[in-house]
Amino acid sequence: METLAASGYSAHLVGGCVRDSLMGRQPSDWDICTSALPEQVIAAFPHHKVLPTGIGHGTVTVMMDGNPVEITTLRRDGEYLDHRHPQTVEFTDSLKEDLARRDFTVNAMAYAPQEGLTDPFGGADDLKAGLLRCVGNPRQRFDEDALRILRLLRFASQLSFQPESDTLAAAAELAPLLEKVSVERTAAELNKLLLGEDVFHALCLAADHRIIEVIIPEFSPCMELQLDRRLFAAIAAAPPRLEIRLALLLHDIAKPQTLYQKGSGGCDDHAAVSAARAETILKRLRYPNSVVKRVEMLVRQHMVPLPVHKAALRRLCAEWGADVVRDWIAFRRANSLATDQVHEAEQCDAAAKLLDEMLAAGMPLRVEDLAVGGKELLEMGVPPGPMVGQILRFLLEMVLEQPELNQKEILLKEATLLWHRQSDS
Ligand code: ATP
Ligand code: MG
Repeated sequence: METLAASGYSAHLVGGCVRDSLMGRQPSDWDICTSALPEQVIAAFPHHKVLPTGIGHGTVTVMMDGNPVEITTLRRDGEYLDHRHPQTVEFTDSLKEDLARRDFTVNAMAYAPQEGLTDPFGGADDLKAGLLRCVGNPRQRFDEDALRILRLLRFASQLSFQPESDTLAAAAELAPLLEKVSVERTAAELNKLLLGEDVFHALCLAADHRIIEVIIPEFSPCMELQLDRRLFAAIAAAPPRLEIRLALLLHDIAKPQTLYQKGSGGCDDHAAVSAARAETILKRLRYPNSVVKRVEMLVRQHMVPLPVHKAALRRLCAEWGADVVRDWIAFRRANSLATDQVHEAEQCDAAAKLLDEMLAAGMPLRVEDLAVGGKELLEMGVPPGPMVGQILRFLLEMVLEQPELNQKEILLKEATLLWHRQSDS
């Protein structure tokens, strides 16, 4: 800010960093708005690395001691025609005009050390009251850019704020416009909402004002059966890990349907049907493959009984991988807490502890963890081919049952017996 001022330009901190600082929170990033044009910003920082992040919209990123600082030229937005982007962007000298284009009053404040706070829309008062209020007419603002409807809910989740009543009414009314927003943007906001501290509150708003159904129409039957509050409580009880929270949101998505079918002798394996549907939904929202796979797995296996003994837990780890089992236990724990199954939640805690201990002790879980490998078997005289794999899998079964048997001499002896038995038959 001093560098920009020295070159004769205005410079203010703006948006999220001002809001977070006033709340006593650590801002996730620092945004500066300035009267300098992008090329003037670049010229003002000849000794810094400068990235042309969004020159068209007036944004460049200056690297300061390894930290990115986004510097954006003051601008006013032109007309919005597609419910998402302004048709044109015009640069301006007016800080107030720049603040007027911002979504919520708590996000429309600027700060500079000499001037203090610039707050033309009452953001500081709303911040104190914990209110999310659109800058200007909420219907117009959501109509311009429907993504703001989801931003409203994600800030409700992250900040634990309440939408002001006109703002909320407009969000509910214009929610169908969310269909115009790209799935990537939708998913990015949904993720922040799900990982926010007050996720229960935000999801209830999304459900009660029928906003969630625009993003996930498949969710409607769950709401009709009033499953939603239990699902939301489970999400709030889960650790802030996206895959677990998405899985909790979607794990009963086919339950209403399978409940109806059950009576007529139809499908009652709702876990498998829900898993398939969760996969379809997440693929439609273009989630990364790794997320889709993990969520699908958690949903598909969500009815599997909790392992109470070490061997059963080792078996699950061998089958699914230890990191899946860890997420699965956390998923189950959250679900138990949400349905007041205290005993099951305690079993989950015990299983999680056991898993940590087993992993810390270097428990063998995969064929690769065995004290012997294919090489030793070939040296022993086992012919190359499927028998090598068969013997190794048998040895793993044995070791999963009794990990203390994972020693080279013991396994080689066992392998010899197996091999001879195989060749005899
Ligand atoms: P975070 O801590 O998540 O980064 P943030 O408030 O900084 O929160 P950003 O998405 O980084 O949110 O946006 C920075 C600022 O730009 C916002 O505070 C707001 O003033 C403005 N803004 C961002 N997106 C929009 C939008 N769709 N419509 C209007 N203003 C927006
Ligand atoms: Mg930000």
